[in-house]
Amino acid sequence: MVNVNDYAVIVGQGIIDELFLLAQRLQGKIIQNINSTAVGGGVAEILIRIIPLLRQLGVDARWDVIKGNERFFGITKKIHNALHGVNVEITSEDLGYFLETNRDNAQELNLYGDILFIHDSQPIALVEKKKDIGKKWIWRCHVDFTSPKQDIMNFLRSYIEKYDAAVFSAPAFAMDINLTQVLISPSIDPLSDKNKELPQETINSIMEGFGIDPNRPVITQISRFDYLKDPVGVIKAYRMCKKYIDCQLVLAGGGATDDPEGLKVLEEVKSAAADDPDIHVLLLPPASDIEINALQRASTVILQKSLKEGFGLTVAEALWKAKPVIAGAVGGIPLQITHKYSGILTHSIEGTAYYLKQLINEPEYARKLGENGREHIKNNFLITRHLRDYLLLFLSLYYEGDIIYL
Ligand code: UDP
Repeated sequence: MVNVNDYAVIVGQGIIDELFLLAQRLQGKIIQNINSTAVGGGVAEILIRIIPLLRQLGVDARWDVIKGNERFFGITKKIHNALHGVNVEITSEDLGYFLETNRDNAQELNLYGDILFIHDSQPIALVEKKKDIGKKWIWRCHVDFTSPKQDIMNFLRSYIEKYDAAVFSAPAFAMDINLTQVLISPSIDPLSDKNKELPQETINSIMEGFGIDPNRPVITQISRFDYLKDPVGVIKAYRMCKKYIDCQLVLAGGGATDDPEGLKVLEEVKSAAADDPDIHVLLLPPASDIEINALQRASTVILQKSLKEGFGLTVAEALWKAKPVIAGAVGGIPLQITHKYSGILTHSIEGTAYYLKQLINEPEYARKLGENGREHIKNNFLITRHLRDYLLLFLSLYYEGDIIYL
């Protein structure tokens, strides 16, 4: 288990001392996080790392997961897609069932926290309980909110308004709403299995196990199999590049328990990959952190060709490893990449293919992008900054004028 003091070698002891000071002021308060999956996707990824660290700092942080059946998660995935601007039909029966499941969870879950920290839209309606039990309620939005479908927004708005504060990952997601809104970007944990340094032998043996040739360029995208990550677009860009460069493509990802579309997308990806032996479609089981770490480190270029993206932890993970990254210029990604300085931002398959060729052909330029990217992640998107922002947010709920009510 990582100790919170271990981060001092990366960020300095002053930052760690400050975290302990802030945490002290939250003594006696329970922070109850609630989301919709314990495994898979960025939200679980962050909670897995941040909860134990908050606890080490002395904050009583806990984590519960709502329950739902296939129908519920089918509906929440449609809501998720509609929030990302995708045309989907969500009926009033769907919304009724969504609310019913939220109400069942509100009955079953013990809402014991002093602060109820609700993540994303799946459990958003738990806040109906606020009128009975009071407490402080924060809604943490992890999705790309730049062009949501208005009808679903109007539905969710009536719940968002009930919260004491809403947290977004990027300034572009702010809402026109009468509510305290806070900008807190996600983060990666530099000491986790996903991001820690790895011995070269470990990297080599993992690549060998996947049958990837270490002597030819490797292009990698790590993502859940989701349309919004555009895996088929990635294959098309690779094919354009492959006409000029003998390279390999790795598309690696697992599922998330709250994402029922994964298998369908995976089938489409496999069929698009056809019988090209240089396309490696890897369905990873949960807890493949070392494998993902090794794949990222062994890659020549990392892609994240998302069409929508709340933040894109995979971008931060790759940049932290000083890798050149080509990513869609969407959602939270431009917070991480300044075009042609700390990576490449693209808007099309053709653009992606063009920059793939360039970065493979110009390793010195690619190296510089990666180095700048790593510095940017170090300064802005490590978990210690995230912890500090959360502690300040929790404290702010008890702050009025210049007095803190604890
Ligand atoms: N991830 C993983 N296994 C997979 C695919 C993704 O552990 O098979 C991780 C990935 O490394 C990243 C997170 O899941 O830490 C995905 O977060 P991101 O913000 O990139 O996308 P999201 O899935 O939340 O849309």
